Amino acid sequence: MTIPTYADVVAAAGRIQGHAHRTPVLTSRTANEELGAEIFFKAENLQRMGAFKFRGAFNALSRFSEAQRKAGVVAFSSGNHAQAIALSAKLMGIPATIIMPQDAPASKIAATRGYGGNVVTYDRYTEDREAIGRKLAREQGMTLIPPYDHADVIAGQGTAAKELFEEVGELDYFFVCLGGGGLLGGSALATRALAPKCKLYGVEPEAGNDGQLSFRSGSIVHIDTPKTIADGAQTQHLGSLTFPIIRRDVDDVLTVSDAELVDAMRFFAARMKIVVEPTGCLGFAAARKMKDQLRGKRVGVLISGGNVDIERFAALLA
Ligand SMILES: *Cc1c(COP(=O)(O)O)cnc(C)c1O
Repeated sequence: MTIPTYADVVAAAGRIQGHAHRTPVLTSRTANEELGAEIFFKAENLQRMGAFKFRGAFNALSRFSEAQRKAGVVAFSSGNHAQAIALSAKLMGIPATIIMPQDAPASKIAATRGYGGNVVTYDRYTEDREAIGRKLAREQGMTLIPPYDHADVIAGQGTAAKELFEEVGELDYFFVCLGGGGLLGGSALATRALAPKCKLYGVEPEAGNDGQLSFRSGSIVHIDTPKTIADGAQTQHLGSLTFPIIRRDVDDVLTVSDAELVDAMRFFAARMKIVVEPTGCLGFAAARKMKDQLRGKRVGVLISGGNVDIERFAALLA
């Protein structure tokens, strides 16, 4: 598989049009005052199924051949990719099998089942989900769509940043959540095409800074599954397609603590009246820490998703 380009992001935008929401760009006077900057939040928590992952999944499935559609799709995911594949597959009449960790948030497992996905669970600390996925693909002829290391997935995820720049014009800084790098990779393609001078940062949880280690050392670093509240960014390594894009097009990878994520989550709920899952808070939490450099600048923040069990949301804020 070859590394996608901005032309692939443009093609993906055409395929998802009318299926994915064109999510709003939110602003907050309080956030602007706090940072002394003009902040534009791309609200993918308001995307279909509650996260940007619908974009990549729908784009990938819409490229299936007739034979692939018939045999079905298999995906492994800590949550949002699973729901995205299950919903996209349902919309296209494709059977979907989803491999999910048994400790994934109950709301995510239930939603995946609700979208018609056949859920198979595994232990994320002892079992290899990729091996389970490959075995199912091999034995049942299904097509495996990985959560981030796939050209069509990366291109689809890039459509959110494309919409942001089209709506607000060039930005000085752009903060994007980073797990396996599908979102950051796609965002990088759109950023370099539409706002070449914009400083682009990937943001990870402190406990899982494999992306930062990889970016700074120049080769993909593998880590154990990190323990963090940012369950959408518990990836162990960047991908063979996402890493080269990130290395080429991203300015740096930053980290934030779980406590900083909770503070950002509280801000979104209290001030902007939106529910953002911990992983979706990565970008804003990092921007807050860089306050001094952002003064007077135009800043983009990608809010990646809003899928969090409401009881867990309340417990984290308590
Ligand atoms: C998957 C996910 C991420 C990380 O995306 P990658 O493409 O794996 O880097 C961030 N936020 C949310 C809400 C996600 O679901």
